[in-house]
Amino acid sequence: MKCPRCGAVDDRVIDSRLAKDSSAIRRRRECLGCKKRFTTYERIEESLPFVIKKDGRREAFDRRKIIEGMRRACEKRPVSVDRIEAVADSIEQELMEGPEKEVSVQYIGERIMDELRQMDAVAYVRFASVYRSFRDIEEFITEIKELSGLKEARTERLPENGPPDENRQGIQDSPCS
Ligand SMILES: [Zn+2]
Repeated sequence: MKCPRCGAVDDRVIDSRLAKDSSAIRRRRECLGCKKRFTTYERIEESLPFVIKKDGRREAFDRRKIIEGMRRACEKRPVSVDRIEAVADSIEQELMEGPEKEVSVQYIGERIMDELRQMDAVAYVRFASVYRSFRDIEEFITEIKELSGLKEARTERLPENGPPDENRQGIQDSPCS
């Protein structure tokens, strides 16, 4: 595995164990060149859909791309790497559990935007401006206006007529005992 510091490909595994949720094998490695230690995860790949790019090409899902894109957007913003990785994990998990064999790169982008919108407005706008490449400045301004409105409305979680909870059965007057 290529060392993230020096690029050497020789390393030794110093620890190998099942990840917390048992969905991956976590390996702690040490670069034989520069002694940097890093972690790799081995996961099941087949269940992940292919990603269809804008030009129609298919490529394997790569959670690192989600992390890289988000990190760029979150540069100097108060968003931790842990949070970014948690988003990548949840998107990956969702795709893994879903029935789709293919998913568009736009869909993944939208999912990332959904998450960023709730985390950090600046990171969201940065990501959206690169990702969605707003058609014109009007659209961009509308988005930013909506965003500042969103911040204020954030405390009210669901609209009154939002999705109904489970119908409240069993609260009728006849007790069962
Ligand atoms: Zn190294």
